[in-house]
Amino acid sequence: MKTRYNKNDMEILAGVWDRTHDKSLICPQCGHNLVIVQVEPIHDAENAYIPYDTIIECTSCDFKIRAESFSILGSVKSFDLKNIEIASWSPSGSRVISRYEHVLDYDLLKKLKESEELTEFLIVNKQVIQVIG
Ligand SMILES: [Zn+2]
Repeated sequence: MKTRYNKNDMEILAGVWDRTHDKSLICPQCGHNLVIVQVEPIHDAENAYIPYDTIIECTSCDFKIRAESFSILGSVKSFDLKNIEIASWSPSGSRVISRYEHVLDYDLLKKLKESEELTEFLIVNKQVIQVIG
């Protein structure tokens, strides 16, 4: 699989989704909000989901980075401070357990695991960075 981001982008991404800035996407250049624009699906045979070539851009300045993102609707099977296992179904209907690194809040994950609620997880560059809705 081709990757279209470089190391510098990865560092910026890690900063954008810093643990201390829960859920907020803040531009590292000017501090305004960032928006995620999903562009086109990437074909990846090893992924049960369809990743999208994604552009994350600032609403105010010219800051822009590319990443690969997709979302999974599932429940928290297990987690620790670094990793999470998400139980879900693949598009073909089979049960899937996906394991990723995450930057989510520990208490939030604890709550989600206890409730066994179906949640949509946003995965960017193979890291779970946000819970949607
Ligand atoms: Zn900006």
